[in-house]
Amino acid sequence: MMKIRRYLRGSGRVLAFVFVASVIWLLFDMAALRLSINDANSQLLKERLLKERDLVRQQSRVTQLVRRGFKHPVQRQEQLINTDQRNQRQGQLINTDQRNQRQGSLINADQGTGDHVLRNHSDGAALSKSKGITSQQHAPAKKKAVNLYVNITKATQVPQDHTIKASLKKELIKTMPIKLNSLNNTESKAKEEIKDGKKVSQLQAVDARPVKTITQGINKGEKIKTEVKPAKTNPPSILIVQKESLKSKIKAGDDSLDNFTAVRKSGVHKVLSMDATVSPRNANAVGQFGQPGILASSEDAEVRRRWDEGHFNVYLSDQIPVDRAVPDTRPETCAQSLVHDNLPSTSVIFCFVDEVWSTLLRSVHSVLNRSPPHLLKEIILVDDFSTKDYLKEQLDRYMAQFPKVRIVRLKERQGLIRARLAGAAVAKGEVLTFLDSHVECNVGWLEPLLERVYMDRKKVPCPVIEVISDKDMSYMLVDNFQRGVFKWPLVFGWSALPDEYIKKNNMTISDPIRCPVMAGGLFSIDKKYFFELGAYDPGLDVWGGENMEISFKIWMCGGEIEIIPCSRVGHIFRGQNPYKFPKDRQKTVERNLARVAEVWLDEYKDLFYGHGYHHLLDKKVINIGNLTEQMELRKRLKCKSFKWYLDNVYPDMEAPLVKAEGLVFSRGLRKCLALQKGSLSFEVCDLSKQSQHFNYTWMRHIRQQELCVAPQNKGFTLLPCDNSKPELRWLYKSSKTTLAEHLVAEFISHHMCLEAEPQGESLRLRPCEPGNTFQKWEFTQYHAQ
Ligand code: UDP
Ligand code: MN
Repeated sequence: MMKIRRYLRGSGRVLAFVFVASVIWLLFDMAALRLSINDANSQLLKERLLKERDLVRQQSRVTQLVRRGFKHPVQRQEQLINTDQRNQRQGQLINTDQRNQRQGSLINADQGTGDHVLRNHSDGAALSKSKGITSQQHAPAKKKAVNLYVNITKATQVPQDHTIKASLKKELIKTMPIKLNSLNNTESKAKEEIKDGKKVSQLQAVDARPVKTITQGINKGEKIKTEVKPAKTNPPSILIVQKESLKSKIKAGDDSLDNFTAVRKSGVHKVLSMDATVSPRNANAVGQFGQPGILASSEDAEVRRRWDEGHFNVYLSDQIPVDRAVPDTRPETCAQSLVHDNLPSTSVIFCFVDEVWSTLLRSVHSVLNRSPPHLLKEIILVDDFSTKDYLKEQLDRYMAQFPKVRIVRLKERQGLIRARLAGAAVAKGEVLTFLDSHVECNVGWLEPLLERVYMDRKKVPCPVIEVISDKDMSYMLVDNFQRGVFKWPLVFGWSALPDEYIKKNNMTISDPIRCPVMAGGLFSIDKKYFFELGAYDPGLDVWGGENMEISFKIWMCGGEIEIIPCSRVGHIFRGQNPYKFPKDRQKTVERNLARVAEVWLDEYKDLFYGHGYHHLLDKKVINIGNLTEQMELRKRLKCKSFKWYLDNVYPDMEAPLVKAEGLVFSRGLRKCLALQKGSLSFEVCDLSKQSQHFNYTWMRHIRQQELCVAPQNKGFTLLPCDNSKPELRWLYKSSKTTLAEHLVAEFISHHMCLEAEPQGESLRLRPCEPGNTFQKWEFTQYHAQ
C-alpha cells in the first residue's frame, strides 16, 4: 500500500508538473489567441470607424442636388432604429445644432446656386416631335399566388379594441383575398423569396389573363396605344385601425374641418399605419432600418466601378434588402390624424429609363408594403425605352408576382414628361400619384395625400421628400417647414417658411404647407383635374422645366400645391442624370424653360431671359417649337396672370420688372440724358421731366416707352425695342467691377462703352476705360444688381 502510495507520490509529482505545465501552456495559448482576435477586431473596428468618419465627412460636403435646385437641408438618422425603438423615434432624431455642425454646408434658398448658367450654345437644331407613343405591357407568363411581401409582426396586428368603420371594412374585405390568419403560412416563403431581388426574379408566374388594347387620348390629338392587363385582386395586408370619435377634429390642415363639415359627411378613421416591413426578416441586413451601409475599403474599387450605372452607390444598393424597413420619420401627431373612409383610389406611376434594378424594386416594394391596398389601384411602370436587359424579361417575370403592377413599354425614348403622360393615359385610379423610380415610401405616406385631393380635387399634394444618401444609402429626414420655390431664371430650390408666417398662421409641423413650386418628382393629382389642366405640355422634352410648368399652371388656373408633412418619401438625389439625353442636356432644359416662360410668365419672362438666357431670344439659336395650343389652353382655362401668382402665392419673391429706372446721369457731364423730338441729348437734370425718364430693363435696354437707345453709324439713335437685337443691349457694370457704372455694348466682341462727348454733349462709343467719368452713368433708382 505504502509502496503504491510512494509510487503514486513520485509519479504524482510528474503528473502534477505535466498538468500545471499544460494549464500554463493553455493559458498562454488562449491569451495569444485573444490578443490576435483583439488585434483583428480593433483593426476592423478602426477601419469601420475611419470609414464612418469618412462618410460623415463626405456627407457634410454632399451637394444634395434636388431636382436641379438648391441643397435640401437634411438631418441624418443617427441611431439604429429597431422595431421597439420606433415608438420613441422622435427622441432619436438628432437636434438641429448637432446637425448643423455635421452638415456644415446647409444653405437656404437665398444662398443656393443652381445649374442654371447654361450659356454654351450654338445653333439649336429643331427638336424632333413625338411620333406618338406606342406602349405595350408585357404579359407575364405565369403568376405565383402567394403574397411575398407580407410579414406579420406584433406591431402590425390589429389591436384588440380595433374598430373599422363598416364602409371601410367592407372595402378592405373586398380587397383582401387572403384571410388574416392565413398570412402566417405565407410568411416563411416570403422570407426566403424576397431576400434578394435577383433570386425572386426566377419565380414562375401563372397568369394567363387576356390582354386588351386601350386607346386613350393624352393631350389633344396625341394618342397612346397601350396594351394593358386588367388589375386583379389586391394583395393582403394588415391594418391598424383604432377607435376614434367622429367629433375629433381632422388634423389635416387649417381649412379641412370647414370643408369636412360643409361638404363631406363620410366616416373617418385614424390614418392607417400599415407597414409590412416593420419587423424585417433580417434585422442585421446592410442598410436595414435606413441605416448607412458600411463597406470595407477593399470594396471601394467596386463602388467606383458601378457608380455611373445610377450616379449613386449602386454596389451598396444591391446589397440592401429590396424591402428594407425605414424609420418612421413623420411628426408624432401624424399617426393620430384622421382621414376619410372613402378616399379615392390611386394609380402610382413610376417612369424610368435604365433605372438600377435594386432601387426600382425598392421603390415598388415600398409602395406595396406601405400603402393601404384598397387605395392602391395599381402600380404602372413606364419603361421609357430603357437599354438595360434586366429591365425587360427579368422585370416582367419579377413583377408578374404582383397583380397590381403593370408595365408599359414605350417604343422610343420619350423623356420623363411624355412617359408620365403615357402612364396617366392608361391609369385607372381616380388619382394619379407620380413617383421617381428610386424612392422609398414611408409608413402612412398615401392616405394624407389622398385626403387632400378628397377634400378638394384641385389640391395637388406632394409628400415631404426625404433624402436617401447617394453614398451610404441611409435614409435622412429633412428639416421642417420647407417648401419648394424658384429663383431666377426658373431654378428650383427649397426654402424654409419665414418664422413670422409660421407664427401668424399658428402652424404646427404637421400642417400642409402652401408650396409655390413643386419639386416635380413626387405628387398626387386628381386624374380628371390633371387632364382638365391639359396635363403636361407634351412639347417639353426629356427632363427639366416640367415642374415649373405644372406648378404655374396649377396655381394660376385655380388649383393649389401643398407639401404634406405627414406623407414622407425618401428619394436618392444624385449629382448627375445617369441616362443619356437624346440632344444636348443644357439645350434641352433651356428650351423647355423657354417654353414655360413664354406661356406662363407674361411680362415677367424678361426676368427669365435677363438672368443669363438672352441667347434664347435669338430664334436662330433655338427653336422652342409651337406654343399656340398652350396659349389657347391658358385662355380657355381663364387662368390668372403671373403677377397674381407672384402677389398671392409667392409674395416674398422679388421680381422687379426693370433693373433700374429714373434719370440717367452722366458723371462726367453732370447732366442727364433726355429724349427730345426723337433724338438724344443732354439736359440739366430734372426729375419731373418725363423726357428724362428711362428704364434699364432685364433685356439690358435703355428704354423710354417703346424706344430703345441704339448705336447708328458713328452716333446714336432710338429704335423700336426688340428683344432679339443684340445691338440694343447694354451691360451695366455694377459698382464692384472694374468698369463700375459703365454701359458696355454687347454686340461688339471687344469692350466698347457708352460715352458722353465732353463738348458736343452727344453720345458715342469708345473703348472702355475704368477711370473715365464720361463713361460712368448713374440711375436714380436700382431694383436689382
Ligand atoms: N426618366 C424617364 N425618362 C427620361 C428621364 C427620366 O423616364 O428621359 C425618369 C427617371 O428614370 C426617374 C424620373 O424620370 O425615375 C425622374 O428623373 P430623375 O430622377 O433623373 O430626375 P431628378 O430626380 O434628378 O430630378
Ligand atoms: Mn429622381
